[in-house]
Amino acid sequence: MSENNKKLLISTRKLKKYFPVKKGVNLKAVNDVSLKIYEGEKFGVVGESGCGKSTLGRVILQLYPQTSGSCVYYGKSIQELNPKYIQKEINHLKAYQSNAIKYYQDSLNLDNKAKALNDKRKELDPDGSSNDAKKYDKISREIAKIEFDSKELKKNASRQLREGSRTVGSLILCENIEEIAHLFTLAEQEVEKAHECLVKYKDVKNKFDENNVTIHQKINISQWILEIEEKDAKEPSDENKQRLHDLKQIKKRVENVNIDQLTNENNELELELKKLSDKIQKHHEIEMSYCDKAFSFRGKNILNITERTMDPAYQKKLDDNYETGLNLNKLTKEEMRVIRSDMQMIFQDPAASLDPRQTVGKAIEEALAINTDMKPQLRREKTMDLLGKVGLKREHYYSYPHALSGGQKQRVGIARAIALEPSFIILDEAVSALDVSVQAQILQLLNNLSQEKNLTYFFITHDLGVVKHFCDRIMVMYLGNVCEMASSDELFHHTLHPYTQSLLDAVPRLRVDETKKLEDDVLQGEVPSPINPPNGCPFHTRCKKCMTVCQHKRPELMEVFPNHFVACHLFNKEN
Ligand code: SF4
Repeated sequence: MSENNKKLLISTRKLKKYFPVKKGVNLKAVNDVSLKIYEGEKFGVVGESGCGKSTLGRVILQLYPQTSGSCVYYGKSIQELNPKYIQKEINHLKAYQSNAIKYYQDSLNLDNKAKALNDKRKELDPDGSSNDAKKYDKISREIAKIEFDSKELKKNASRQLREGSRTVGSLILCENIEEIAHLFTLAEQEVEKAHECLVKYKDVKNKFDENNVTIHQKINISQWILEIEEKDAKEPSDENKQRLHDLKQIKKRVENVNIDQLTNENNELELELKKLSDKIQKHHEIEMSYCDKAFSFRGKNILNITERTMDPAYQKKLDDNYETGLNLNKLTKEEMRVIRSDMQMIFQDPAASLDPRQTVGKAIEEALAINTDMKPQLRREKTMDLLGKVGLKREHYYSYPHALSGGQKQRVGIARAIALEPSFIILDEAVSALDVSVQAQILQLLNNLSQEKNLTYFFITHDLGVVKHFCDRIMVMYLGNVCEMASSDELFHHTLHPYTQSLLDAVPRLRVDETKKLEDDVLQGEVPSPINPPNGCPFHTRCKKCMTVCQHKRPELMEVFPNHFVACHLFNKEN
């Protein structure tokens, strides 16, 4: 599938996570990570312990608040969630623009002040009298401070424009920003109306589906009981008895159901669904017409706010910032709770992630009890179904974690993660604690589930062998930074970054080349502290190919070959 045909699910831009250690000192766990994850993709993240891969996963899930940057989720539409932050951002557009103007003007005033001081300094001779030299030094210090402040103000101005552009793209530069904000407000009101219809639609659809299930059960229940009774007579088993017990419960529930009445009710519900769907479509069309009107201002009446605003390349950059998905960092707790069921996590230690006092069934059902309004009987049936999907038996419903093997516990973890039918799952070293044979089974299960349910995985591991066979794309991280990102095949067969090469060299294998010493392959030295990372390339203290430029200039992540990104000066043609 080409990049253009894939549906984007998550995109992060310059995502940072710093943990404050003490005043003015931060542990830089994740530094400027920009990536795109597509629907149905298995995206692997590799690196040594402490490289920031787990922190990145947790920041994407918003378990840790990000320090800066953005993390946008496209799995739910804005109409579905109707987040509060959008109207707030629209109301703030004018302020973003005026703040940018003010910051930039203040910086120009400081530049003038620095220029005047510079002229004054020219009149002094630093090598002249001691008085002159003192004055010269004093003015030089003042100029340096003013220049620093001016630079900060310019950065603030750009920051304000960048923030505004998340809601309206390059329209943040337009003189008509108030008119534009008004049009976006009208569009937002339509989103709200569409959202209300959507909530009603979901309720009606649930009722409709519930009726259909009940009709189906009422028609077939006697037959199902008969089949299981026959099966149990031939091969008696606890599983059959349990199933029989469940079916009899269902029979009791549907005994007094009137099929004709339910069918009529469903016909009416179907009509209601059609009406609601038309209304949603209508609100969406009106919303789009307001947005189109607002975007017709694009490129017109641009204000000369900073030295870059008239540059079409800069305007394009701001347009690229326009977010059509949900900015996870700006959602309220309640809104994030809705998104949580779409995004799940499976942990490294399956034993530690289960409550030893809770049966497997209860552990899985808990997610359904908290996040859905499913009745207890339905929850139980769904849990039984999930156990079957992950290769466990129905009787495991009643087992406690201590009675299960490592592989079985991890299967419970997977069942719990997929209970709410998420679209995105973070697997944090999910198979690292398992035996190799069990690893293969779990990976096979994850692979089948991803195909069946179009799941997207963010697969965190330090095991390159696992990602090679399991992931579609791989990102290599070092000290919170991205070193290399490419498709799995490309990364293994056309490795570019020296750090990736070191990781591959360190994979244990049967040594064929006896002339080569083990030390030739092993990465030497310690990972530097993320509290005080080295200047320039973060890997330069351990890199065998380190050049002078690497020690003071941080390499940018560049696309060296199509969809193959590397952050290394060796591949920068300018060096
Ligand atoms: S930028 Fe320099 S130090 Fe960093 S990986 Fe490349 S060659 Fe090595």
